[in-house]
Amino acid sequence: MCPTPEQKIIAKAKTIGIDKIGFGTAAPFEELLEGLYEQKKNNHTSGFEHPIIEERIYPQLVYDHPKSFISVALAYPTQMKEIPLREKGKRRGSFARVSWGVDYHVLLREKLDVLVAFLKEEFGTDYYFEPMVDTGVFIDTAVAQRCGLGFIGKNGLLITKEFGSYVYLGEIITDLKLEPNAIIENGCGECNRCIDSCPTGALLGDGRMNAKRCLSYQTQVRDYIPEEFRKKMGHVIYGCDICQMCCPYNRGIDFHLHEQMEPDPEEAMPLLQPLLKVSNREFSQQYGHLSGSWRGKKPIQRNAIIALANSRDKSSVPLLLELIENDPRPVIRGTCAWAVSQIMQKDANEQLLTYLEAAYCKEVDKQTRNEFQKAINLLKKEGPL
Ligand code: SF4
Ligand code: SF4
Repeated sequence: MCPTPEQKIIAKAKTIGIDKIGFGTAAPFEELLEGLYEQKKNNHTSGFEHPIIEERIYPQLVYDHPKSFISVALAYPTQMKEIPLREKGKRRGSFARVSWGVDYHVLLREKLDVLVAFLKEEFGTDYYFEPMVDTGVFIDTAVAQRCGLGFIGKNGLLITKEFGSYVYLGEIITDLKLEPNAIIENGCGECNRCIDSCPTGALLGDGRMNAKRCLSYQTQVRDYIPEEFRKKMGHVIYGCDICQMCCPYNRGIDFHLHEQMEPDPEEAMPLLQPLLKVSNREFSQQYGHLSGSWRGKKPIQRNAIIALANSRDKSSVPLLLELIENDPRPVIRGTCAWAVSQIMQKDANEQLLTYLEAAYCKEVDKQTRNEFQKAINLLKKEGPL
């Protein structure tokens, strides 16, 4: 018997390290339309998604007579082989697992390019095969669910049988007709663990979320993080793993199938104080290959300041005060003022207050002045002055 087109594609995918692959029709995602409009109306979007809802729903608006999706998944590790040594007084932050190792956009894109070359060779260049990783028009999880890779849980993530939700997703859209896989039934049942565990109440209960309340989104914004979210971040400086770690489908899942995904502990759990001193060049040398660095140095440094505050690291106060004095970025100055007030709230002294009041008088950025004012008020209220 000759292999079917789908069998040939699956066989090729295996040889290039794709961990899971499936096929689905490129019919419209009409079942998502109402939810997406509602999400937009309620301002629950992150702003990182494709802006035109209709194009996300109707593939034929963007592609010429599309017939099929090919969805692929790569499993990523969840445990570090080595954890950095704990040294007294040296606080570390952490990147969420999704940002361990080499940026998955790069890894997945390389594999999809190889697969596309194979598809063209096998089926001819009359067909188009358009690969996408994360930044495409379509909702990766919806495509993956359509292609039978798994189901979308109440945490909004695709949950696979073999790898739980610890997978990176990508897809190819094509005008080649492929036999679709069966859709996998939702397996959440009565479980609500992710909803109950989410520290910000971002999950809405039906697989959708208010992205603006999600810590993963908040750690990526370039401006100030609203105060209500800062303490909830703990020591995490990029992303959030909570609604994955609590999911029963992820229990015991830890695959190490791709060398490039192995985290360097010094990068995935960096020392916080040195991170505040790195130059742009050092940052891009050390962290530029991580997916978590895509918004540049400032958000990561702002998050590192929050992590220092959350760990009440008094040894960081001189550095934070130095940044208040000299850093050209208002968000960094203001977040440092907040952090100092959190760390020193029970131990404020006249000298510290005078320093912050002088900084307040010099500050020209309105929002940053507001942060300074709140920090001063907290220290006056709480401190033993
Ligand atoms: S990533 Fe974190 S903040 Fe976002 S929904 Fe999941 S648990 Fe909540
Ligand atoms: S934690 Fe429970 S409710 Fe949430 S995605 Fe996992 S199985 Fe579903």
